[in-house]
Parts: sequence; structure tokens; C-alpha cells
Amino acid sequence: MTDTTLHPVTFAGAGPGAAAHLTLGVLAALQAAEVVIHDRLVGPEVLALIPAHVRRIDMGKEGFGPSAAQGDINAALVAHAQSGARVVRLKGGDPGIFGRLDEEIEALEAHGLAFTLLPGLTAATVAAAEIGQSLTRRGRNAALRIVTGHDMDGFAEQDWRGLARKGEVAAIYMGKSSARFLQGRLMMHGADPATPVTVVENVSRPDQRRHEATLATLPEAAQAARGPAVILLGLSPRKAARLPLSALSDLPPKIEALP
Ligand code: SAH
Repeated sequence: MTDTTLHPVTFAGAGPGAAAHLTLGVLAALQAAEVVIHDRLVGPEVLALIPAHVRRIDMGKEGFGPSAAQGDINAALVAHAQSGARVVRLKGGDPGIFGRLDEEIEALEAHGLAFTLLPGLTAATVAAAEIGQSLTRRGRNAALRIVTGHDMDGFAEQDWRGLARKGEVAAIYMGKSSARFLQGRLMMHGADPATPVTVVENVSRPDQRRHEATLATLPEAAQAARGPAVILLGLSPRKAARLPLSALSDLPPKIEALP
């Protein structure tokens, strides 16, 4: 039985960084929140939009390095929801893409707690926009794959034969440390070493950088990225999109926090 006397927990996508990439729905949820439990990947520009009176809990979770255990995050969500607070669980990008969303929803369900879900722009969508490319194209790729370089068992196995085909486009998340593995698997399955690849780092943040590469040079490009990065297999930056990255901060609209 779902407890209808409590507020549903709102899972919300923060987008990859800039406030300009946040939906108005998520902004409204942040403004109405009493508690915001957020990820490490949520950008400072979005955090700045959380009103000052709202309790903010940093539950950073990363593939490597120090992080809160998933069980602790689930427990915090349940406890705050049961206290009667309006809770927003704010995740980088879209909560439904490599965001362990189901685990958190199931924790709520196990306690009869309701939830709502507000999507966000995922890193791949914004990365593609930042290099001036469409993720699908008639006659080139009729499918887009969103894959992870890493899963619970280590480097993730994928449909390499399919990914190695000419014209395929894939957005590879958490792929920096597995870049050499990805390259090896793709080449083993016949991918052209000249296949374009772009590594976009710190997407939608002031320190965004893109590393233009080919499958042959993917490991070096991935190694050059220091921040979170998405690997766009099959895409290279369009010439006309080679704007200075500082142009990002001039993007309309400028969204301001509530006073
Ligand atoms: N839910 C997130 C993905 C979380 S998994 C989303 O929809 O974007 C973490 C991975 O996402 C990182 O390893 C990286 O591959 C990618 N990522 C998240 N934010 C990013 C950003 N601002 N710039 C580049 N890659 C990002």
C-alpha cells in the first residue's frame, strides 16, 4: 500500500551541467523542495538554483573514488520521505540513464512510498549538440546506442559486431578507463581504425573540452580527458560548430535563482 499522506519523492534530472540545460519542471520542483539529495555530477550552476532555505544533501556516487554506498542513499531517501518532507532526488543528466534509478525506486516501493519522475537532458544529447551533430541521420544510422564502458563486472561486453559496422553511432558513458578495451574489441570485429570518435569532457560546463579522434587514437583522447566524459563513436565535430567554448556561458536564457 502506498502512503498517500506523504509527499511523493521527485526524481529529477539536472542535465549535464549548465542551468540552460535544466527543464522548467525540474526548476519548479527544486523551488518547491524541502530536501534535495543530489549527486556529485550535478553542476554548480544547477545547485545554485536550489533556494537557500532548502536542506541540501550531497550523496555523490562515482564509479571510482569515495562515494556513498547505494544502501545509504536508499536509506536517506526513505527516511526523509517518511519524515513528511518534500524530497527531490536530483541526479546528473537523466535519472533513467545509468543512474541506478530502479534501485532507488524499489527502495521507496518497499516502504510504500510514492514517487514522480522528471527527466533531464542526458550527457550524450548535449555532447552531440556541442559538436554540432545529430545523433541519428537518414541513410547513416537508423539506431543510436547508449552503452556503458563499465558494468558491475568490470569492462562491459557489448554487441561489438553491431557497433563495429560502418555508420554506427554510439554514446559511450563511463568509457574513459575502458577506452583501450573498447578500441580492441571494435577493431577485432572489423571496425575501421579511421572511424571518427569525439570525446566530450565536462559537457555543458565552463571547462568543457572536446577531443577529436579516430578509433585508432581513442585511448589517447580518452586519457586526455580529466573530468566526466562521453565518447561519441561515429561522430566528429562539424566544422561550423567549432565555437570557442567560452561561448557556452553566453547561452540564453540566463536562469537566476529565486531571491
Ligand atoms: N545520468 C547521467 C549519466 C550518469 S553515469 C546522464 O544521463 O548523463 C556517469 C557518466 O555519465 C560519466 O562517466 C560520463 O560518461 C557521463 N557524464 C555525466 N555527466 C557528464 C558531463 N557533464 N560531461 C561528460 N560526461 C558526463
